[in-house]
Amino acid sequence: MCAKENAHSGRTGGEEEAPRFIADDQLGKLARWMRILGLDTLYFQEIEDRELIRTAVEEGRILLTRDTRIAAEPGEAKCLFIESDNWTEQLREILSAYHLKVFPEKLFTRCLLCNSPLSPIGKDDVRERVPPFVFRTQEEFVRCPTCDKIYWQGTHVNHVLEKLKPLL
Ligand SMILES: [Zn+2]
Repeated sequence: MCAKENAHSGRTGGEEEAPRFIADDQLGKLARWMRILGLDTLYFQEIEDRELIRTAVEEGRILLTRDTRIAAEPGEAKCLFIESDNWTEQLREILSAYHLKVFPEKLFTRCLLCNSPLSPIGKDDVRERVPPFVFRTQEEFVRCPTCDKIYWQGTHVNHVLEKLKPLL
């Protein structure tokens, strides 16, 4: 049975690294929210249990699962059984299990589609790629180096912070 464990386990010396995660196929919404928070979280819509466990072990990721069968036999993988089916509560379970905090400056630092860390891109380079209104009103843009999606802050950051309020 997989157990709750803290972020300090298995690391010796040096800077403490943020835990990395892989979410099972029932946790798509949670995975998206974890990426919004800047947490490194893999998610595949269709993935075999064995593959899920193998990836968790190979990449040193914590396996997040709602599946009692996986939780009962996670093999070599570190895993956290997620009890709630509400995404806010699920996030709370993870933040609490690994002593993580929500940092507003880390919001939107990862691609929501593929989990890659985003890089800044100059305003001139996005002129043809964003709606004219966005180009006129926004100054800072970031780009996903993997899937080439462009992100900008816009008004949704405030919206997101509002939704995350219970966790802040
Ligand atoms: Zn991407």
